[in-house]
Amino acid sequence: MERSSFTLDLGAIRRNTETLLRAAGGAELWAVVKANGYGHGAADVARAALGGGATALCVATVNEALELRAVPALDDARILVMGPANEREVGDARAARLELVAASGPIPEGVRVHLKVDTGMGRWGLSELPSPTRSAVGVMSHLAAAESDPNFTNLQIDRFREATAGLDHTLARHVANSAGTLRYPGASFDAVRCGIALYGISAFGSDPTLDGLEPALRWESYVALAKRLETGDSTGYGRRYTADEPAWIGVVPVGYADGFRRDMTGTSVLVDGARRRVVGTVSMDAIAVELDGEVAVGTPVTLVGDGISVEEHARVADTIGYEIVTGLDTSSARAKRVIQDA
Ligand SMILES: *Cc1c(COP(=O)(O)O)cnc(C)c1O
Repeated sequence: MERSSFTLDLGAIRRNTETLLRAAGGAELWAVVKANGYGHGAADVARAALGGGATALCVATVNEALELRAVPALDDARILVMGPANEREVGDARAARLELVAASGPIPEGVRVHLKVDTGMGRWGLSELPSPTRSAVGVMSHLAAAESDPNFTNLQIDRFREATAGLDHTLARHVANSAGTLRYPGASFDAVRCGIALYGISAFGSDPTLDGLEPALRWESYVALAKRLETGDSTGYGRRYTADEPAWIGVVPVGYADGFRRDMTGTSVLVDGARRRVVGTVSMDAIAVELDGEVAVGTPVTLVGDGISVEEHARVADTIGYEIVTGLDTSSARAKRVIQDA
Protein backbone atom coordinates (compact mmCIF):
# COMPACT_ATOMS: atom_id res chain seq x y z
CA MET A 1 0.00 0.00 0.00
CA GLU A 2 1.30 3.41 -1.00
CA ARG A 3 0.51 6.25 1.36
CA SER A 4 0.06 8.72 -1.49
CA SER A 5 -0.05 7.55 -5.08
CA PHE A 6 -0.72 9.72 -8.13
CA THR A 7 -1.57 8.09 -11.45
CA LEU A 8 -1.35 10.21 -14.59
CA ASP A 9 -3.21 8.88 -17.62
CA LEU A 10 -1.34 9.99 -20.74
CA GLY A 11 -4.23 8.75 -22.89
CA ALA A 12 -6.59 11.21 -21.19
CA ILE A 13 -4.17 14.09 -21.87
CA ARG A 14 -3.94 13.03 -25.52
CA ARG A 15 -7.70 12.77 -25.92
CA ASN A 16 -8.28 16.11 -24.17
CA THR A 17 -5.77 17.65 -26.59
CA GLU A 18 -7.73 16.25 -29.52
CA THR A 19 -11.03 17.52 -28.05
CA LEU A 20 -9.58 21.01 -27.62
CA LEU A 21 -8.14 20.97 -31.13
CA ARG A 22 -11.62 20.26 -32.46
CA ALA A 23 -13.04 23.14 -30.37
CA ALA A 24 -10.27 25.40 -31.71
CA GLY A 25 -11.55 24.83 -35.25
CA GLY A 26 -8.29 24.78 -37.16
CA ALA A 27 -6.15 26.90 -34.84
CA GLU A 28 -3.04 25.37 -33.28
CA LEU A 29 -3.19 24.16 -29.71
CA TRP A 30 -0.38 25.17 -27.39
CA ALA A 31 -0.27 23.13 -24.20
CA VAL A 32 0.13 25.15 -21.00
CA VAL A 33 2.31 23.10 -18.64
CA LYS A 34 3.40 25.77 -16.14
CA ALA A 35 3.53 24.92 -12.40
CA ASN A 36 4.74 21.38 -13.10
CA GLY A 37 1.89 20.81 -15.53
CA TYR A 38 -0.73 22.04 -13.02
CA GLY A 39 0.76 19.53 -10.58
CA HIS A 40 0.41 16.64 -13.01
CA GLY A 41 4.09 16.46 -14.08
CA ALA A 42 5.16 18.90 -16.81
CA ALA A 43 7.40 16.67 -18.93
CA ASP A 44 4.98 13.74 -19.07
CA VAL A 45 2.02 16.00 -19.87
CA ALA A 46 4.08 17.86 -22.49
CA ARG A 47 4.98 14.65 -24.33
CA ALA A 48 1.39 13.39 -24.27
CA ALA A 49 -0.02 16.72 -25.45
CA LEU A 50 2.47 16.92 -28.31
CA GLY A 51 1.53 13.32 -29.14
CA GLY A 52 -2.12 14.41 -29.28
CA GLY A 53 -1.42 17.21 -31.75
CA ALA A 54 -0.30 20.20 -29.65
CA THR A 55 2.39 22.17 -31.49
CA ALA A 56 3.99 24.17 -28.67
CA LEU A 57 4.35 24.29 -24.89
CA CYS A 58 3.72 27.31 -22.65
CA VAL A 59 5.21 27.86 -19.20
CA ALA A 60 5.43 30.82 -16.82
CA THR A 61 9.17 31.02 -16.13
CA VAL A 62 12.45 30.59 -17.98
CA ASN A 63 13.54 27.97 -15.44
CA GLU A 64 10.44 25.90 -16.12
CA ALA A 65 11.25 26.09 -19.83
CA LEU A 66 14.90 25.12 -19.32
CA GLU A 67 13.82 22.06 -17.34
CA LEU A 68 11.61 20.96 -20.23
CA ARG A 69 14.29 21.73 -22.82
CA ALA A 70 16.63 19.32 -20.98
CA VAL A 71 14.22 16.42 -21.56
CA PRO A 72 15.53 14.58 -24.65
CA ALA A 73 12.06 14.13 -26.17
CA LEU A 74 11.46 17.90 -25.91
CA ASP A 75 14.76 19.01 -27.40
CA ASP A 76 13.02 20.44 -30.48
CA ALA A 77 9.69 21.47 -28.98
CA ARG A 78 8.56 25.09 -29.30
CA ILE A 79 8.48 26.49 -25.76
CA LEU A 80 6.94 29.86 -24.95
CA VAL A 81 7.70 31.54 -21.61
CA MET A 82 4.65 33.66 -20.77
CA GLY A 83 5.95 35.46 -17.66
CA PRO A 84 8.64 38.12 -17.37
CA ALA A 85 12.33 37.32 -17.91
CA ASN A 86 15.25 39.26 -16.44
CA GLU A 87 18.39 40.08 -18.42
CA ARG A 88 20.21 36.87 -17.54
CA GLU A 89 17.11 34.85 -18.38
CA VAL A 90 16.84 36.50 -21.80
CA GLY A 91 20.36 35.18 -22.49
CA ASP A 92 19.39 31.71 -21.26
CA ALA A 93 16.25 31.80 -23.40
CA ARG A 94 18.27 32.73 -26.48
CA ALA A 95 20.74 29.88 -25.89
CA ALA A 96 17.95 27.35 -25.30
CA ARG A 97 15.86 28.47 -28.31
CA LEU A 98 12.92 29.53 -26.13
CA GLU A 99 10.32 32.12 -27.07
CA LEU A 100 9.56 35.08 -24.80
CA VAL A 101 6.71 37.48 -24.26
CA ALA A 102 7.34 41.21 -24.52
CA ALA A 103 4.77 42.85 -22.27
CA SER A 104 6.65 45.98 -21.19
CA GLY A 105 9.94 47.75 -21.75
CA PRO A 106 12.31 47.12 -24.65
CA ILE A 107 11.63 44.15 -26.95
CA PRO A 108 14.44 41.60 -26.56
CA GLU A 109 16.54 40.90 -29.67
CA GLY A 110 18.00 37.66 -30.91
CA VAL A 111 15.20 35.61 -29.40
CA ARG A 112 11.73 34.96 -30.77
CA VAL A 113 9.13 37.13 -29.01
CA HIS A 114 5.38 37.46 -28.77
CA LEU A 115 4.08 41.00 -28.27
CA LYS A 116 1.45 41.09 -25.59
CA VAL A 117 -1.28 43.67 -25.68
CA ASP A 118 -3.52 44.28 -22.67
CA THR A 119 -7.13 44.12 -23.85
CA GLY A 120 -8.62 44.14 -20.35
CA MET A 121 -6.76 41.71 -18.10
CA GLY A 122 -5.11 44.65 -16.37
CA ARG A 123 -1.93 42.74 -15.64
CA TRP A 124 0.97 42.11 -18.05
CA GLY A 125 0.66 43.60 -21.50
CA LEU A 126 1.38 46.71 -23.56
CA SER A 127 -1.40 49.27 -23.80
CA GLU A 128 -0.57 49.80 -27.51
CA LEU A 129 1.01 47.28 -29.86
CA PRO A 130 4.41 48.59 -31.01
CA SER A 131 5.39 48.00 -34.61
CA PRO A 132 6.69 44.45 -34.65
CA THR A 133 10.46 44.05 -34.64
CA ARG A 134 12.35 41.39 -36.59
CA SER A 135 12.31 39.12 -33.55
CA ALA A 136 8.49 39.15 -33.28
CA VAL A 137 6.75 35.88 -34.17
CA GLY A 138 3.42 36.39 -32.43
CA VAL A 139 0.94 38.82 -30.92
CA MET A 140 -1.14 37.84 -27.94
CA SER A 141 -3.50 38.91 -25.21
CA HIS A 142 -5.12 37.17 -22.25
CA LEU A 143 -8.81 36.87 -21.32
CA ALA A 144 -9.81 38.01 -17.84
CA ALA A 145 -13.23 36.39 -17.46
CA ALA A 146 -13.89 33.86 -20.23
CA GLU A 147 -15.38 31.47 -17.65
CA SER A 148 -17.90 34.00 -16.36
CA ASP A 149 -18.46 37.21 -18.34
CA PRO A 150 -19.49 36.97 -22.03
CA ASN A 151 -19.85 40.73 -22.54
CA PHE A 152 -16.38 41.52 -21.32
CA THR A 153 -14.87 38.53 -23.11
CA ASN A 154 -16.42 39.56 -26.42
CA LEU A 155 -15.15 43.09 -25.85
CA GLN A 156 -11.62 41.75 -25.29
CA ILE A 157 -11.82 39.59 -28.42
CA ASP A 158 -13.01 42.59 -30.47
CA ARG A 159 -10.25 44.80 -29.09
CA PHE A 160 -7.68 42.13 -29.95
CA ARG A 161 -9.03 41.72 -33.47
CA GLU A 162 -8.85 45.47 -34.04
CA ALA A 163 -5.39 45.84 -32.51
CA THR A 164 -3.98 43.07 -34.71
CA ALA A 165 -6.00 43.64 -37.90
CA GLY A 166 -3.34 45.27 -40.07
CA LEU A 167 -0.50 42.99 -39.02
CA ASP A 168 1.61 40.71 -41.13
CA HIS A 169 -0.06 37.31 -41.34
CA THR A 170 3.10 35.47 -40.43
CA LEU A 171 2.62 36.71 -36.85
CA ALA A 172 0.66 34.12 -34.85
CA ARG A 173 -2.28 35.74 -33.07
CA HIS A 174 -3.35 34.04 -29.83
CA VAL A 175 -5.67 35.05 -27.03
CA ALA A 176 -7.78 32.09 -25.84
CA ASN A 177 -7.28 30.07 -22.66
CA SER A 178 -9.33 26.90 -21.98
CA ALA A 179 -12.62 28.70 -21.29
CA GLY A 180 -12.11 30.93 -24.33
CA THR A 181 -11.39 27.94 -26.54
CA LEU A 182 -14.45 26.01 -25.36
CA ARG A 183 -16.98 28.88 -25.41
CA TYR A 184 -15.79 31.49 -27.94
CA PRO A 185 -15.09 30.13 -31.42
CA GLY A 186 -14.15 33.66 -32.49
CA ALA A 187 -11.31 33.68 -29.95
CA SER A 188 -9.28 30.91 -31.55
CA PHE A 189 -7.35 33.07 -34.09
CA ASP A 190 -4.13 31.20 -35.04
CA ALA A 191 -3.47 29.37 -31.77
CA VAL A 192 -5.10 28.71 -28.40
CA ARG A 193 -3.24 28.31 -25.11
CA CYS A 194 -4.99 25.64 -23.05
CA GLY A 195 -4.07 24.58 -19.53
CA ILE A 196 -6.79 23.44 -17.18
CA ALA A 197 -8.94 21.69 -19.81
CA LEU A 198 -5.96 19.68 -21.01
CA TYR A 199 -5.93 18.03 -17.58
CA GLY A 200 -9.63 17.24 -17.80
CA ILE A 201 -10.57 19.82 -15.17
CA SER A 202 -13.39 22.28 -15.75
CA ALA A 203 -12.51 25.95 -16.19
CA PHE A 204 -16.10 26.64 -15.10
CA GLY A 205 -16.05 24.66 -11.86
CA SER A 206 -18.62 22.30 -13.36
CA ASP A 207 -18.50 18.75 -14.71
CA PRO A 208 -15.63 18.51 -17.24
CA THR A 209 -17.27 15.60 -19.06
CA LEU A 210 -19.95 18.07 -20.27
CA ASP A 211 -17.20 19.47 -22.50
CA GLY A 212 -15.97 16.01 -23.46
CA LEU A 213 -12.95 16.21 -21.17
CA GLU A 214 -11.50 13.35 -19.09
CA PRO A 215 -9.77 13.92 -15.74
CA ALA A 216 -6.17 12.74 -16.18
CA LEU A 217 -5.09 12.36 -12.55
CA ARG A 218 -6.03 9.86 -9.85
CA TRP A 219 -4.95 10.21 -6.24
CA GLU A 220 -5.07 7.22 -3.93
CA SER A 221 -4.16 6.25 -0.40
CA TYR A 222 -5.48 3.73 2.14
CA VAL A 223 -6.99 3.35 5.58
CA ALA A 224 -3.99 3.04 7.90
CA LEU A 225 -6.09 2.73 11.03
CA ALA A 226 -9.77 2.13 11.77
CA LYS A 227 -10.68 3.49 15.16
CA ARG A 228 -13.81 3.33 17.28
CA LEU A 229 -14.70 6.57 19.02
CA GLU A 230 -16.92 6.40 22.10
CA THR A 231 -19.47 9.13 22.75
CA GLY A 232 -17.55 12.31 23.53
CA ASP A 233 -14.26 11.16 21.98
CA SER A 234 -12.72 13.44 19.36
CA THR A 235 -10.28 13.04 16.49
CA GLY A 236 -7.60 15.43 15.39
CA TYR A 237 -6.17 18.81 16.39
CA GLY A 238 -8.48 21.24 18.08
CA ARG A 239 -11.09 18.53 18.75
CA ARG A 240 -13.17 19.84 15.85
CA TYR A 241 -14.97 16.50 15.45
CA THR A 242 -16.49 14.87 18.50
CA ALA A 243 -18.58 11.70 18.35
CA ASP A 244 -22.10 12.27 19.71
CA GLU A 245 -22.63 8.52 19.62
CA PRO A 246 -20.16 5.64 19.21
CA ALA A 247 -18.66 5.91 15.71
CA TRP A 248 -15.92 4.48 13.50
CA ILE A 249 -13.40 6.65 11.74
CA GLY A 250 -10.63 5.73 9.32
CA VAL A 251 -7.30 7.49 9.48
CA VAL A 252 -5.78 8.05 6.03
CA PRO A 253 -2.07 8.96 5.95
CA VAL A 254 -2.18 12.02 3.68
CA GLY A 255 -2.59 15.60 4.81
CA TYR A 256 -2.04 19.19 3.88
CA ALA A 257 1.65 18.62 3.15
CA ASP A 258 0.47 16.35 0.33
CA GLY A 259 -2.00 18.93 -0.95
CA PHE A 260 -5.06 17.79 0.96
CA ARG A 261 -5.80 21.29 2.17
CA ARG A 262 -7.04 22.17 5.65
CA ASP A 263 -10.13 23.80 4.17
CA MET A 264 -11.14 20.51 2.54
CA THR A 265 -12.71 19.19 5.75
CA GLY A 266 -16.24 18.12 4.83
CA THR A 267 -15.39 16.98 1.29
CA SER A 268 -15.88 13.35 0.24
CA VAL A 269 -13.50 10.55 -0.69
CA LEU A 270 -14.13 6.93 -1.56
CA VAL A 271 -13.36 4.21 0.98
CA ASP A 272 -13.45 0.91 -0.88
CA GLY A 273 -15.73 2.58 -3.45
CA ALA A 274 -18.18 4.13 -0.96
CA ARG A 275 -18.44 7.89 -0.47
CA ARG A 276 -17.26 8.98 2.97
CA ARG A 277 -16.99 12.42 4.54
CA VAL A 278 -13.69 13.86 5.73
CA VAL A 279 -14.14 15.00 9.33
CA GLY A 280 -12.14 16.96 11.88
CA THR A 281 -9.02 19.00 11.28
CA VAL A 282 -6.78 17.99 8.37
CA SER A 283 -3.28 17.39 9.76
CA MET A 284 0.01 17.72 7.92
CA ASP A 285 0.18 13.97 7.32
CA ALA A 286 -3.30 12.60 8.06
CA ILE A 287 -7.02 13.00 7.61
CA ALA A 288 -9.95 11.22 9.26
CA VAL A 289 -12.99 9.89 7.40
CA GLU A 290 -16.35 8.81 8.80
CA LEU A 291 -17.01 5.06 8.42
CA ASP A 292 -20.17 3.10 9.01
CA GLY A 293 -18.23 0.31 10.73
CA GLU A 294 -14.81 -1.19 11.07
CA VAL A 295 -12.79 -1.71 7.88
CA ALA A 296 -9.54 -3.59 7.36
CA VAL A 297 -6.25 -1.74 7.50
CA GLY A 298 -5.17 -1.32 3.88
CA THR A 299 -8.66 -0.63 2.55
CA PRO A 300 -8.16 1.55 -0.54
CA VAL A 301 -9.11 5.24 -0.43
CA THR A 302 -9.62 7.32 -3.58
CA LEU A 303 -9.01 11.01 -2.96
CA VAL A 304 -9.40 12.04 -6.63
CA GLY A 305 -10.89 9.77 -9.28
CA ASP A 306 -13.92 7.55 -9.90
CA GLY A 307 -16.32 10.45 -9.50
CA ILE A 308 -14.46 12.21 -6.70
CA SER A 309 -13.55 15.38 -8.54
CA VAL A 310 -11.10 18.19 -8.11
CA GLU A 311 -14.03 20.53 -8.76
CA GLU A 312 -15.92 19.14 -5.75
CA HIS A 313 -12.89 19.57 -3.47
CA ALA A 314 -12.48 23.10 -4.80
CA ARG A 315 -16.09 23.95 -3.98
CA VAL A 316 -15.67 22.76 -0.41
CA ALA A 317 -12.43 24.73 -0.06
CA ASP A 318 -14.05 27.80 -1.66
CA THR A 319 -11.41 27.95 -4.37
CA ILE A 320 -10.87 26.81 -7.97
CA GLY A 321 -9.64 23.49 -9.35
CA TYR A 322 -6.46 25.20 -10.51
CA GLU A 323 -5.42 25.89 -6.93
CA ILE A 324 -6.22 22.38 -5.75
CA VAL A 325 -4.10 20.63 -8.40
CA THR A 326 -1.16 23.03 -8.34
CA GLY A 327 -1.02 22.42 -4.58
CA LEU A 328 -0.76 18.63 -4.87
CA ASP A 329 2.62 17.20 -3.94
CA THR A 330 2.90 14.76 -6.82
CA SER A 331 6.63 14.84 -7.37
CA SER A 332 8.44 14.53 -4.05
CA ALA A 333 9.63 11.66 -1.88
CA ARG A 334 6.24 11.71 -0.16
CA ALA A 335 4.38 10.42 -3.21
CA LYS A 336 4.56 7.59 -5.68
CA ARG A 337 4.00 8.57 -9.29
CA VAL A 338 2.50 6.11 -11.73
CA ILE A 339 2.27 6.79 -15.45
CA GLN A 340 -0.39 4.91 -17.34
CA ASP A 341 -1.47 5.06 -20.95
CA ALA A 342 -5.07 3.95 -21.16
C1 LIG B 1 -2.12 29.99 -17.46
C2 LIG B 1 -2.34 30.71 -18.72
C3 LIG B 1 -3.14 30.14 -19.74
C4 LIG B 1 -3.92 28.85 -19.55
O1 LIG B 1 -5.13 29.10 -18.89
P1 LIG B 1 -6.20 27.92 -18.61
O2 LIG B 1 -7.36 28.62 -18.04
O3 LIG B 1 -5.54 26.99 -17.65
O4 LIG B 1 -6.46 27.28 -19.92
C5 LIG B 1 -3.21 30.80 -20.95
N1 LIG B 1 -2.56 31.99 -21.15
C6 LIG B 1 -1.83 32.57 -20.18
C7 LIG B 1 -1.16 33.88 -20.46
C8 LIG B 1 -1.71 31.96 -18.94
O5 LIG B 1 -0.99 32.56 -17.98
